[in-house]
Amino acid sequence: MGRARRRIGVLGGTFDPIHLGHLVAACEVRHRLALDELIFVPTGEPWQKQDRQVTAAEDRYIMTLLATDRSTFGVSRVDIDRTGPTFTVDTLRDLHAQHDPADLFFITGADTLAGLPTWREPDVLLELAHMVAVTRPGHELDAAPLPPSALTTVEIPGVDISSTICRERVARGEPIDYLVPAAVVEYIGKHQLYR
Ligand code: ATP
Ligand code: MG
Repeated sequence: MGRARRRIGVLGGTFDPIHLGHLVAACEVRHRLALDELIFVPTGEPWQKQDRQVTAAEDRYIMTLLATDRSTFGVSRVDIDRTGPTFTVDTLRDLHAQHDPADLFFITGADTLAGLPTWREPDVLLELAHMVAVTRPGHELDAAPLPPSALTTVEIPGVDISSTICRERVARGEPIDYLVPAAVVEYIGKHQLYR
């Protein structure tokens, strides 16, 4: 008898740093789609963010671990441990190899979804995972680029926080308490990130 297919949510991101918007999205999608598991996947080298210096992958990975209660969310190193730029299609292949048989649900915010057709191997990507788009304040959710059967949209409680805003606030000496988990605030301070 085969094992039951697990339903696994995947939230990929730079997480530089992880903030409450990411956590609310993960929590809400897991609940709404009755997922068995939800895995955060910090990117290695993000190919879309070459315009600025991204914080070291290990720092972003540790902050993601600190932000997520291990009993509730998983954190995967697949993108950090693969060399070269991160492409979502590779993320999904690696996760399938580790978790087969599983149905993967790849979660993106409204702002990220629009770019999907430009990602590497978009057709394969849609075979490897069902896409889930979550609402995000200030961004229109335009599902147009995707066939309706490939996408579920989930309205989540609006959290108007971005990693960019968190980095800018730290650089200006402003607090980020309650925008990111306390343990992450502490890590950023201790390691002098974003100064
Ligand atoms: P940056 O400002 O550096 O781009 P970010 O806040 O957008 O950071 P990412 O790591 O780029 O965070 O996002 C990872 C994923 O989470 C993306 O799909 C993004 O759309 C989604 N996301 C991030 N913040 C929110 C939020 N506040 N509400 C809903 N989705 C979000
Ligand atoms: Mg972003």
